[in-house]
Amino acid sequence: EAKSTGRGQVKFFNNTMRKKLKSHADIENDLQHGIEHNEFELYFQPIFSIQHCKVIGFEALVRWHHPSKGFVAPNDFIPIAESTGQIINLDLHLLELAAKQIAAWQQQGKRFLRITVNVSSRHFASVDFISQIHAIYNKYALELGSLCLEITESGLIENLELATKIIEGLAPLKVKLCLDDFGTGYSSLGYLHQLPIHVLKIDKSFIDHLTDTATPLVDAILSLAASLKLDVVAEGIETQEQLSILQKTQCDFGQGFLKAKPMPAAQAILLIDKPL
Ligand code: C2E
Ligand code: MG
Ligand code: MG
Ligand code: MG
Repeated sequence: EAKSTGRGQVKFFNNTMRKKLKSHADIENDLQHGIEHNEFELYFQPIFSIQHCKVIGFEALVRWHHPSKGFVAPNDFIPIAESTGQIINLDLHLLELAAKQIAAWQQQGKRFLRITVNVSSRHFASVDFISQIHAIYNKYALELGSLCLEITESGLIENLELATKIIEGLAPLKVKLCLDDFGTGYSSLGYLHQLPIHVLKIDKSFIDHLTDTATPLVDAILSLAASLKLDVVAEGIETQEQLSILQKTQCDFGQGFLKAKPMPAAQAILLIDKPL
């Protein structure tokens, strides 16, 4: 049992906790090594139009091929990278991988793809992010509008003014902004109209509850998005029933295991512009 005695804390760790701490420290050390040795790969999950299930783009999702631990899922290292601050370097590395892939696809004539990349909201606390994204655009000669960034709302509203300034600094590149996991955070509606964002992604937990008819909450998010002229993506569509319900709404786009899981780039690109 761990015991906290307040000031001058004494803690007793059991074996499970010690093991957890060790693997936390391991991951911290391994992350930097992993970036340097190119152990991260982006998978791409199709995003499709709700009405015709036509693939219009992809969400990039990181996968770690760890030399001894094997395949490590993002939920096992992204939160650690967030807590150590390594997320800044990791995200920049992954943005480069995404940019490289987008550039390769653009050279093959696959233009007007919508690629979304997840980034920590920590980037929206420093204006450095503006020049970092501009540098990536220049390095890979990306077409304007190639990139959409997904962020969760909580980090943004903590520093609304700076976040807004950063998003505006990315506007010349036509970088789009998507609020990920929408509805699970603070969702103070007051700030939404102030943020220059383009897309709301409805969190999977709301889609899970679509079993019979659209729920009032999903309806509310959809009408909110309509009045703010934002595109809406429903994430985590797992059943035909959920899809059918969404097809009776104004929801623009969807994503989920029902139609396609995240997959390697070479496989994903074959699906573009095709119905799933
Ligand atoms: P997210 O951005 O909300 O991504 C959606 C997650 O849901 C992905 O998990 C995806 O594989 C999963 N998913 C999609 N459709 C379904 C479905 O129908 N059913 C179920 N059960 N799951 C579905 P994944 O790839 O494990 O990523 C987890 C989270 O890790 C992401 O959540 C995102 O917050 C973070 N993440 C992933 N890649 C990156 C990255 O490159 N950078 C950063 N900063 N975070 C990332
Ligand atoms: Mg996401
Ligand atoms: Mg999400
Ligand atoms: Mg989610």
